[in-house]
This record gives sequence, structure tokens and C-alpha cells, in this order.
Amino acid sequence: MPETDSNAKRLVLIVIDGLTPSMFEAAVGDKRAPALTFLAEHGRYDRAVTTFPSLTPVCLSSLVTGAHPDIHHIPHLVWYHRGERRIVEYGSSFAALRAVGMARGILDTIINMNRQHLSPGAATVFEVLEDAGLTTGAINITCYRGRTPHYPTLPAIPIPAYGPKHFFYYNLFESERTGAPLAVFARSAGSIDGYAASVGRWLVTRDGFHFLAYYLPDYDFASHVRGPDAAYEALGRSDAAIAALLDAAGGPDEFLERYAVVFCSDHGQTRVDRHAVLPAVFADRDDVVVTASNRAGMVYGRDPRALAEQLDGEESVDVTLFRDGGEAYVRRSGEEARLVPGEGVDLLEEIPDGVARAWAALQNPNAGEVLVSAAPGFEFADLAGRHHVGGGSHGSLHRDDSEVPMLTIGIDARPRSLVEVAPAIIQHFGVEPPAYQRARRSIAV
Ligand SMILES: [Zn+2]
Repeated sequence: MPETDSNAKRLVLIVIDGLTPSMFEAAVGDKRAPALTFLAEHGRYDRAVTTFPSLTPVCLSSLVTGAHPDIHHIPHLVWYHRGERRIVEYGSSFAALRAVGMARGILDTIINMNRQHLSPGAATVFEVLEDAGLTTGAINITCYRGRTPHYPTLPAIPIPAYGPKHFFYYNLFESERTGAPLAVFARSAGSIDGYAASVGRWLVTRDGFHFLAYYLPDYDFASHVRGPDAAYEALGRSDAAIAALLDAAGGPDEFLERYAVVFCSDHGQTRVDRHAVLPAVFADRDDVVVTASNRAGMVYGRDPRALAEQLDGEESVDVTLFRDGGEAYVRRSGEEARLVPGEGVDLLEEIPDGVARAWAALQNPNAGEVLVSAAPGFEFADLAGRHHVGGGSHGSLHRDDSEVPMLTIGIDARPRSLVEVAPAIIQHFGVEPPAYQRARRSIAV
């Protein structure tokens, strides 16, 4: 068995989906968010950067694998599967799921994303720690791949999901009977975070894990409807779900005596007041597939440079990325530049981690030949024409979609990117990281 630091403090990763740094910073000291305030007073805080496209399935895969999409291969909320010649849709909206076929969409989201689409070349933090003899748990996080088969609670789906030892996923998978209430109904009232809180309380009371990923999605749902920085009520409920963990340990101080903490979100959020229909740009091409949702789009087709040029002048488009002849390029405002890892590009100057994120997104074999990052204020309608105009959205390279709050308590590392979180956790337990994480560390040095 590999060497581990079995005396390392146990660790809880807490993720509030879509929480912007500005909202987090405003919540600290606000009496509506006492648990976050307590954690912030005991931790080290930075703004960090997520991956691109800045959409939940992509970002959570980066968080859990410590890699950008070039390694983990999850490209977007919606993408074209070249091998199976079909659209994969992870739930841009209920109507978009219905448009691709509800059963197929649900199967892709709850099973295939981890079992087939997540690259075998990426290692999840659950796999790495459990292979080293540690016990891990996951509550509701969409990237959950582990070694233990779990059968769904619905007998209609007789397919196991491979997750960590303690695995809870929206009532669909429950490794133990906890008595937690049903999660999936009455979503806007915060029932999913309420479910997470019940399960989290159960796990902390039993202290039965070294590492737990605790994912709270309800805030993002509210923020899409009301816009960024306006979802205080939802944040109060997320805070209560965190407070449930602290209470289960006997109080906030007792919680921090027992656990190290990494707290972050998966992406930011910006206000959107207009929408665009990206496939309409290519209405004259029957050999082109466009997948778009929120503030990112992908175009699959021949002659990528011509496709990218066709997007020039589109008001909804800010940055276009494309692959051509083994090279990666960026187009913006009619200008073009080649992307080389480690070298800056004027066209992406104000974009955080711009070249690294753009390059990695393009190297994903499941990505389109062309990637599109939306202009401020714009959203791309999904397959069913749905959008969040009047509310919030994310997905682009833009700073507001890309920055996340990052708070650490009781670990040495200070992650400045979402992809640095898994390596920080693995290092905390003294476990050998996967080769691709070691390679990145030596480049950074
Ligand atoms: Zn999200």
C-alpha cells in the first residue's frame, strides 16, 4: 500500500455552486451567513480562477481531477459525441433534456458522464485517496467517480454507478440509509441543499471519512433566476447547510479541531440581458453541428478557421477559439493570434489564465473545432431555446464568469486555480499525485 500521512487532519471540501467572489466577500460578516463568516475568520482567502467553459460539469470535473478539460475530457453542458454521432446534454434546462430525449439525458447526466465521458486518463481525488487506503465520501457532486459500485435507489435503472465508499447523489444513489428527506422536488425552496445537510450531518456525526466532498447546488439555481449578487435568501440556506456540518461536530470550533476545510465555488456568474441563437449563424451549413448553452458555445465542422471567421462581427460573440493544422488560435474583434502554452497573447490580456484555459479547452477531444465565449450581457439559447435573460449566467472566459472564492483552513497549499485544489488535498494526505498533476507542478516551478 502506498505511503500516506494517516495522521493528517480529515478534510471537507465545501462547494457552493455559482457563488461569486464579490457575493462571498459581502456575505462575510453578514449575520445571514454565520457559518461562512466563521470559516472566513479562521481561514486564508484568495480569489481563484476556474476552467473554461466555466460551466458546472466542466468545472466540477476540473475540481475533482485537478485537471483542465484537455485531461478530463468533459467539454460543456451540451456537446456532440463524434463516436456515437449524437448530442449529449447534461441538463441545460428541463426542456433541453426533453429535446434530446429525457431518458437518454438523465442516463448521460447521472451515469455516463462519469462512467464513459470522464477520461480514464484523469484520476479523481476519490480514486487517488481510496487507492492509498483512505476513506472518502461525496454528496451530490456531479464528478464522483470512485471504485465502489452503487446501485440506484430506482429499480428502473439497473446500472451501478462507481463512486466513493460513501456516496450520496440526489436520492438516486445512497450508500447508507440516513433517513434524509427526498431531494429532487421543490428545488427552488432549497430542498437539495437540505438533503445534503441531512446526509452531511449523518456522516460528520459518525466521523466515518478522511475526505468528504460536500456540494451545494441550490445557490446557482437561484442566481440564474435572480442574477448574481442578488440571491441572499438562497445563500442563507447554503449557509445553513454548512452550519449543519459544524453543529454535527459539536460546534464550529470542534468542527475545525477535527477537519481541515477547502471552501470554493465552481464558477462565477454575470447578469444577462440579451440572448442569441448561435446555430442561426450557420443556418446555411448542413454539415455543421452547433452546441450552445449559457455563455459558451461549440461548433463542430470542417475548415475551423472559416467557421471562426463566420462568427466575426456577431454581437453576442466575444472570443472565438479554434484548432487548425495541429495549432490553436484565438480570434477577437477580427484579429487573430496563435496560442502557445506559457506565452501571453495580447488578445486575451485581461482574461484570467486566458491562454492556459483556452488552450486546454481546445485540446479536449470532445470539444468542437471552434469554441465560442459570449460577449458581456449575452447568453446563448440552449437546444430548446431556453435562456436566463433578466437573471444570471456563466460559461465564458470573462473574469466575472471565471473568478471563484477560495478559502482554505488547515492545509499548506493555497490554490489559485480550481485545478490546484485536488493536488492540494492529495498533498495534504501525503499521497502520491497522478503524473499529470506532478508534471504541471514542475512546469509551474
Ligand atoms: Zn455551477
